[in-house]
Amino acid sequence: MSDFVSANDGCEVFPEKKEECGLFGIFGDPDAVRKTHVGLHSLQHRGQESAGIATSDGHSIQCYKGMGMVARVFRSGSGALEKLANPIAVGHVRYSTTGSSKAVNSQPLLAEYSRGQVAVAHNGNLINAGPLRDEYEAYGSIFKSTSDTEIIVHLLAKPTHQSKPDPLGHVLGHLRGAYSLIFLFADHIETARDPYGIRPLCIGRTEKGAYVVASETCALDAIGARFVREVEPGEIVRLDRNGLHSRFFVRRGEITPAHCIFEHVYFSKQNSCVSGENVHQLRKKLGRQLAKEHPVEADVVIPVPDSGTSAAIGYAEESGIPFDMGLVRSHYVGRTFISPEQKMREMEVRLKLAIVNEVVRDRRIVVVDDSIVRGTTTRGKIRTLRAAGAQAIHLRVSCPPIRFPCYYGVDFPTKEELLANNRSLDEIRDFLEVDSVGYLSLEGMLSRAALPKDHYCTACWSGRYRIPVDATLNKLTTERYQMYMFEEYSTTHE
Ligand code: SF4
Repeated sequence: MSDFVSANDGCEVFPEKKEECGLFGIFGDPDAVRKTHVGLHSLQHRGQESAGIATSDGHSIQCYKGMGMVARVFRSGSGALEKLANPIAVGHVRYSTTGSSKAVNSQPLLAEYSRGQVAVAHNGNLINAGPLRDEYEAYGSIFKSTSDTEIIVHLLAKPTHQSKPDPLGHVLGHLRGAYSLIFLFADHIETARDPYGIRPLCIGRTEKGAYVVASETCALDAIGARFVREVEPGEIVRLDRNGLHSRFFVRRGEITPAHCIFEHVYFSKQNSCVSGENVHQLRKKLGRQLAKEHPVEADVVIPVPDSGTSAAIGYAEESGIPFDMGLVRSHYVGRTFISPEQKMREMEVRLKLAIVNEVVRDRRIVVVDDSIVRGTTTRGKIRTLRAAGAQAIHLRVSCPPIRFPCYYGVDFPTKEELLANNRSLDEIRDFLEVDSVGYLSLEGMLSRAALPKDHYCTACWSGRYRIPVDATLNKLTTERYQMYMFEEYSTTHE
């Protein structure tokens, strides 16, 4: 077994809301590791803190992972991909939701237990990881990370669970919260989705017949695989040399799904299809609905790129106001620096998001953004648009006001830090320093989505948590278990 971890990365100025994680798995392809590498690149928007790939030759698992983006971890010349060349592979890109951003928490998480090796890749957040961990530690279990994912391995290794007819299904029955999972065993892959189907997970097939699993269909497209279907809520799919086998660990259809609709609003890539519909098309529909609900007289509609672009196109189409690019995002500025100086921070914002002065000067502009969390970043953009000579600024947001935190795998600030918490629309308008502000209504958002309204999670807007949560939890809940050798581990090669 090898589990070598690459060197650490720098830090960045964090955005207000962050993607969660991206998963990719492929069984029975001679080029599995390279396809996984490409798949992870296409899922990079879901997590930039760490990346990793585990592969198996059918007998033994190897893993390479490290802090930073895929290109950094698997930089050319490192030889990592060559060492991992095996026909079964699982990859992961991470943004931390439970457990901080450290090499020891990077995935796939590799472990060895009585039945052999297993590497686990997880997207989501287990809301009962803390109590489960307490229980296991009380009986002497030793954990090597602060990630919620590690508890799954301990549950799997427990002898009384191993004796069940379906040990994995039994283990998943202990988990509460959001989880899309891929398990790499020495000779097969098992993939599963929580009973509410909160995080996405889909299955594809390559031209030569190898099965692929990925968080989003954009990863299937990237490697030339065709979409087969989504993994259903509460389903386990096994991929082995005999093909694909499905089973359910909850009674099929018993639970009404709660797919995260924020995947459509913000997280997923525009060319992906999530819950049966294309993300770009739905965002355009949300923009159209927004224009109906909040019309305004203006000269130009500009998006906050990239996630606001599709909704801005929809707003422009519905309102008849011309669309233009007033803000341009630099895709070449990744992790840069955290500067204590205001002037340096402002420079960095300008570097990442530049203004096309000719589009905004002396114009009445509609700025379309996908969502607002704390509001401080948005206010910064508004100020720079004003400084560039915008005559009037009308902010339109293609989702409702976010008033509640997410406990299902998205890192929002605390309730108190959310702009819309305890603020009226007028107060929000004044805080953001805009001439007017308009949010899409919850009803309007759900009316444009393809599935029945009750098939989506809307907790961050409505406060209705389909899986009851402990509001005292946060992403660092397990940090009390922090171990002092982490930094040393982060540069260990085995
Ligand atoms: S609370 Fe919001 S972000 Fe979290 S799963 Fe529900 S809809 Fe998605």
